[in-house]
Amino acid sequence: MIIKQLFDMDTCTYTYLIASGYGREAIIIDSVDKQLALYNQLFNELDLKLVAAIDTHVHADHITALGLLRNQTGCESMMGEQSKAECISLKIRENELINFDGLKLKPIYTPGHTDDSYSFLFDGKLFSGDTLLIRGTGRTDFQNGDSYAQYDSLFNKLLTLPKDTVVYPAHDYHGQTVSSIWEEKLFNPRLQVKSADEYADLMDNLNLPSPKYMDVAVPANLRCGLPKG
Ligand code: FE
Repeated sequence: MIIKQLFDMDTCTYTYLIASGYGREAIIIDSVDKQLALYNQLFNELDLKLVAAIDTHVHADHITALGLLRNQTGCESMMGEQSKAECISLKIRENELINFDGLKLKPIYTPGHTDDSYSFLFDGKLFSGDTLLIRGTGRTDFQNGDSYAQYDSLFNKLLTLPKDTVVYPAHDYHGQTVSSIWEEKLFNPRLQVKSADEYADLMDNLNLPSPKYMDVAVPANLRCGLPKG
């Protein structure tokens, strides 16, 4: 099994390249356009055939490589059925397994950070997008974010997974790479609340600055990162 956690230093984004082995089919989760050369290097070195590029949601902080990868490799470009991105070749629905090369990825609809956010469960590993971060959670103050929806996604979906489920987030800003449901339940300060109201109050008063690429990233990502026209 290959799971490569790739990092875009400019936007602190984690991208995941997953395959059952060298010389096999692969999928990529949350790709970044500026890292295309690295992905191509790995496809060549490891002899991987990309069959699907998946985004957990429409990102506001970086431009996706979804469209570039689809044009280059002919892979499927996938996002959740709630996504307004125009360029999706296959829409993801909750619990409809994504099958590739004998592997099965289970989509879990986890709105809150955005209304099109998904997490993916695969082989005891959770690719949690921006829903669950390491010692944090994705902000809920733009892109139809909803702190109550996120509370539900976290407490009634992700945190009900087995405690040894490995957590791979879409970002980290503090140098952490991987966690578990157990660790996050115990040590994530956002998850120590007693009610949805308390969580919403916490999230609605973070007063965060807008991401630096938001104005270009959101419209570009609705086109899967491809230029206009
Ligand atoms: Fe995000």
